[in-house]
Amino acid sequence: MDFALNDEQLEFRAKVRGFAADVIRPVAAKHDAEESTPYEVIKAAREHGLHGIEYMRRMGSDPDGMFGIIAAEELHWGCAGIALAISGSGLAAAGLAASGTPEQIARWVPECFGAGDEIKLGAYAVTEPQAGSDVKSLRTTARRDGDEWVLHGTKVFITNGGIADVHVVVATVDPALGHRGQASFVVEKGTPGLRQGKKESKIGIRASHTAEIVLEDCRIPLENLLGGMDKLERKLDRARSGESSGRASNALATFELTRPIVGASALGIAQAAYEWTLGYLANGALAVDPLEVALDESSSAGRPPLERQGNQQVLAQVATEIEAARLLVQRAAWMGRNGIPLTGGQGSMSKLKSGQVAVWATRTLMDVVGPHASTAECPLEKWFRDAKIYELFEGTAEIQRLVISRMQVAEYAERLLEAAAIAAEAAEPQLGGSVSATAS
Ligand SMILES: Cc1cc2nc3c(=O)[nH]c(=O)nc-3n(C[C@H](O)[C@H](O)[C@H](O)COP(=O)(O)OP(=O)(O)OC[C@H]3O[C@@H](n4cnc5c(N)ncnc54)[C@H](O)[C@@H]3O)c2cc1C
Repeated sequence: MDFALNDEQLEFRAKVRGFAADVIRPVAAKHDAEESTPYEVIKAAREHGLHGIEYMRRMGSDPDGMFGIIAAEELHWGCAGIALAISGSGLAAAGLAASGTPEQIARWVPECFGAGDEIKLGAYAVTEPQAGSDVKSLRTTARRDGDEWVLHGTKVFITNGGIADVHVVVATVDPALGHRGQASFVVEKGTPGLRQGKKESKIGIRASHTAEIVLEDCRIPLENLLGGMDKLERKLDRARSGESSGRASNALATFELTRPIVGASALGIAQAAYEWTLGYLANGALAVDPLEVALDESSSAGRPPLERQGNQQVLAQVATEIEAARLLVQRAAWMGRNGIPLTGGQGSMSKLKSGQVAVWATRTLMDVVGPHASTAECPLEKWFRDAKIYELFEGTAEIQRLVISRMQVAEYAERLLEAAAIAAEAAEPQLGGSVSATAS
């Protein structure tokens, strides 16, 4: 077992950290305040090989699965909102890759990123006002009308919603079949009947555009159904006949693979807050609390901030929590890349823990710094706001716990069966031995 990053991974981490420090951080406060999409940073990311098809290919080339989580953590160290603006189109690309035919993938995935100087965006639209965690209850409908599909409904909280060049929209073809009656469709920018609804003004990740999309009798060509008509008809037939599809477990397995990336993203925020606080305390910027000195003359309040035991306790705990979460993230990413099934919910564990660490660490570090941390001059204020989203999206913390507990129960039952099978196998020769002994 080797926990060290290799030279290539270390070099990649230094490169992304450099980009985050030199290109992302200088404009982070501006895009946060304006809630604007940082097109110029996305373009620079492309130039640095951190955006687009080539970048996606590179992420898939690392046998340890570390490139993706290194990039996520370091870009989020720069600014979570900008990092999501850079990587958000990947959701649509993943949706296309999961459901599209090879021809559809080849045609639409490049449209989620653009080529050369041109920046294009993708959006993956599932969530609706009544259906986020509960995806089987989608109400957006897709109805076939001659050689077109007609989409109707409203999607909410969609990253790049309304500004994307390609919207991958999940809609129901037969609501009675729950998630098995659903299919994914490509809706291109400018299609009549597609429009952006309310743009959300969020507590954090404000440089990442989040909006409603409204589909009003939106007509798209038949070929925009991902996977094609035959595949959909077979799926609907199977669902109607009650035959199992295994799709729910496939979807669970896919989420387990993508969640370490979300976990790494949350850790980037926690790491940024931790490093900044270390520097702040090292510079002696924390004023001594006169009340604490007065209350206890033997207290360490008069010492430099980094020598005060109260601060040391907090810093040690924050560092430990970040390391623990990072190990979960790295293990899950490594398992995923090496084809080891994440049947214990290891992907969800890594996302759950990292989201919690980001929220807890930013709040706890604010407590160390004191009132200054609540002002816009202190970067902890932004990291604290950015962190919360990681308990809310890509599966809320409650949903992660449900998934983990179900997977753990299933794995435990499997282990019991295996143990019983081993015990039965072990008993067999013994029985044979005693029979032959008796016979002799
Ligand atoms: C910034 C942002 C970007 C997003 N981007 C996208 C995107 O690009 N595409 C997209 O499709 N969606 C996106 N979403 C939506 C996001 O994935 C959903 O908001 C999330 O899945 C929660 O679903 P919901 O809003 O329906 O909340 P609900 O499911 O209604 O949850 C409300 C509360 O109830 C809890 N809860 C729900 N079910 C259970 C249960 N069974 N047991 C225990 N507790 C439960 C939840 O944990 C939560 O605390 C985004 C959201 C945000 C905030």
